[in-house]
Amino acid sequence: MNISFHGAARTVTGSKHLLTLNSGKKILLDCGLFQGMGKDTMPLNAEFGFDPASIHYLVLSHAHIDHSGLIPKLYKEGFRGIIYATPATKELGSILLEDSATIQRDDTKFINKRRAKQGLPPYEALYDLEDAAEVLNLFKTIPYGEWTKLEDGIELLFTDAGHIIGSAAVHLRIHENGKTTRISFSGDVGRYNDAILRAPATFDQADYIILESTYGNKLHNEVFGTIDALEKWIHHTCIEKKGKLIIPAFSVGRTQELLYALNQLDLENRLPKVPFYVDSPLSREATAVLKNYPSYFNKKIQKVMEHDEGA
Ligand SMILES: [Zn+2]
Repeated sequence: MNISFHGAARTVTGSKHLLTLNSGKKILLDCGLFQGMGKDTMPLNAEFGFDPASIHYLVLSHAHIDHSGLIPKLYKEGFRGIIYATPATKELGSILLEDSATIQRDDTKFINKRRAKQGLPPYEALYDLEDAAEVLNLFKTIPYGEWTKLEDGIELLFTDAGHIIGSAAVHLRIHENGKTTRISFSGDVGRYNDAILRAPATFDQADYIILESTYGNKLHNEVFGTIDALEKWIHHTCIEKKGKLIIPAFSVGRTQELLYALNQLDLENRLPKVPFYVDSPLSREATAVLKNYPSYFNKKIQKVMEHDEGA
């Protein structure tokens, strides 16, 4: 077996790890888009470094674009294998990939206008809305905790990574030459004591672990800040200064944490009478997906839900 790294190596976006088995079978772990690397970004996303049509299986750890954003390009360039993901990752992925295709289209239009003025040939968008829609037909979903045989000699298991809804650590058991090799790929790992999600699940020993360490050199607060700090900023900005508090937040994960904190303040009668808005259709769609998977929530929230049902 051979493992090669085609992204998220010496950087933290563009996750793509390729396993080539002795049988020639190829398993790709994640297919992320490189993001935010200035002028280096475009060439990195232009070439995979392998033939997309040669991939038999793609295993997707979670729906964030730096892990999934090149799946439609993989499809466009000939990939017709099976994509394994959890049900929530597929649902969230369908929203995020459509959004990404729209961004690709608009960005390319903008860049090409400038290139035309400079007399340069136009760039082609990485993929279009059709690629993003058609690739959804290749998904097969597997819930957490169920070993699944992909074919003789290849077994797959997802465990909860507690990072975003549906996020998983990926575990493979590869049987070749009379030997079993256990490989675990962390994907992005969530926090203990998350406001909404369950803590990352533990998993069995592996022979090889592929571990992402985006914040490996930083200490994080247990939660994104305290609810008291949020209350203080609301009072300071909206009441004392009579201003508007604008909070930039990622659509998946952070927006829902903020809504949860605002709701908490409201329940405790600590929220002044000011309207608040989620000014992002994408965030609202992502929040709707979250509501479909109550069993992925942490115990604290599940208790509140049971209480609501009983009331
Ligand atoms: Zn992520």
